[in-house]
Amino acid sequence: MAKRPESTDRTANERRIFDAGANSPRQVRADLGHVVEPSREIPVFATTDVLVVGGGPAGTTAAVAAARLGADVILAERYNHLGGLSTGGLVIWIDRMSDWNGEHIIRGMAEEILDRLPRDAIYGPPKAEWGSRDTVLSAQWQKRHAAFHGTVTWAPMIDPEWMKLELLRMIREAGVELLLHSWVAGPLVEGGKVTGAVLESKQGRVAVRAKVVVDTTGDGDIFARAGEGFDGDIESDDIHHTANTASLLCGVDNARWLAFMDAEPDAFRDFMRHGREQVGHFVLPFPGWRNDVTVFMGPRFAGFDVLKIDDLTTLETMSRESLVELLNYYRSNAPGFENAWIMLSAPQLGARHSRRLVGLGRMTGVRAKTGAIEPDEIGISPSLSPNLPNVSVPYGALLPRKVDNLLVAGRHISTDAQTHTYMREIPQCWLTGHAAGIAAALSVQAGVAPKDVSIPDLQAALRKQGAHLNDPA
Ligand SMILES: Cc1cc2nc3c(=O)[nH]c(=O)nc-3n(C[C@H](O)[C@H](O)[C@H](O)COP(=O)(O)OP(=O)(O)OC[C@H]3O[C@@H](n4cnc5c(N)ncnc54)[C@H](O)[C@@H]3O)c2cc1C
Repeated sequence: MAKRPESTDRTANERRIFDAGANSPRQVRADLGHVVEPSREIPVFATTDVLVVGGGPAGTTAAVAAARLGADVILAERYNHLGGLSTGGLVIWIDRMSDWNGEHIIRGMAEEILDRLPRDAIYGPPKAEWGSRDTVLSAQWQKRHAAFHGTVTWAPMIDPEWMKLELLRMIREAGVELLLHSWVAGPLVEGGKVTGAVLESKQGRVAVRAKVVVDTTGDGDIFARAGEGFDGDIESDDIHHTANTASLLCGVDNARWLAFMDAEPDAFRDFMRHGREQVGHFVLPFPGWRNDVTVFMGPRFAGFDVLKIDDLTTLETMSRESLVELLNYYRSNAPGFENAWIMLSAPQLGARHSRRLVGLGRMTGVRAKTGAIEPDEIGISPSLSPNLPNVSVPYGALLPRKVDNLLVAGRHISTDAQTHTYMREIPQCWLTGHAAGIAAALSVQAGVAPKDVSIPDLQAALRKQGAHLNDPA
């Protein structure tokens, strides 16, 4: 398995963190009975071809892709911005989009989004270096989380505010109708078909009718409430199930910090050892896209259920308390952090895993290892290690089993727990969102259910919009 910034080779200290949720006192609520909500008429706010629920990486690409094929599209997002965890969650390190040979394999919408960012809003290895196994280069990029197993990869840091703006522009340019501050409460299901959704807003509860709905909430809010099955099992020795709120620090000097790690290995070892001893939850920062910005994407906490109000509340509290501890230790001990200050704790809590769809298709670790090219391929993901082949992503993983006119994209697609560890990453969510958007538009155009969309047409449209797929056999 690739050594990832969100590393799997944990220290004893980190193991404690993994157990934090399991060991901390959990709120047990008494059964206080029920209330009956009176039935009521809900005004129809809008009708559309495609309703995309959730404006994160998957939802934004789905909405843009569908609109570019001529569909009427509404995108509903509960917060005030687009990008989901990649912006509001301060997950500003975009995982690998090149394979172990340096080939750029997650392209299409992913490539377009990153190309739109101003040059000073993105930082990562230049194209000429992707795939390089030069020891000096890879050591240099490894510290920036853009080289693994001695290979330089395309995995940049981005400025979340520019990302928010460019996503907004893409949505507007594509003609998508955007509904911000709109929390989708559940789907409308009639006769085994999803026909829209009900959302809560300052305006009250309203309905949106749609021919196809795309669930990109990350937590499967729509497919679960439509009665679809889901998995929740985890890889307990991987971080893919942990949760926390990330934070952005300013006033740092990353160059000094990285030079310290390089030039003073003994002092750095001491710094790490003392940190683990003195700080309850100790983690390393990710140097940002500018020299004076860094991000803490941890400490990560295990054992919580990000679908529960009490757990979410506890996670926010633990994340903030542990950040202050970290800040104090870094300020006193880390060269380059003397003047560091907290600019922002993420507006969106970092949920890595909750529900995963039990779909018509399912990505599994066993299947991925074979290197098989799926007949319904919608894209290709890099594998976790140079010993493993690239992974063909099937359309079936986006298709629910029970209800029609619903598609699923993003971190909650149909996978086993092992495959979730990488299919949840931002580029993979761009990839599945892109495919879901095209499939939704084709479904509306052809008047067929998403599961009956022509695969050659889907693949042709994806290629036309710049996606990279294996060559047809
Ligand atoms: C702390 C942390 C660190 C990570 N590190 C990395 C990393 O380094 N690199 C990487 O590539 N990936 C990383 N990931 C994974 C990655 O960020 C996410 O898995 C990815 O953003 C998921 O994209 P998504 O579109 O499926 O969901 P999200 O990004 O969660 O977006 C879902 C969107 O839907 C909205 N929404 C949810 N429910 C509703 C509702 N009911 N109504 C309306 N709107 C709703 C949300 O507000 C959000 O905007 C990390 C994740 C976390 C939490």
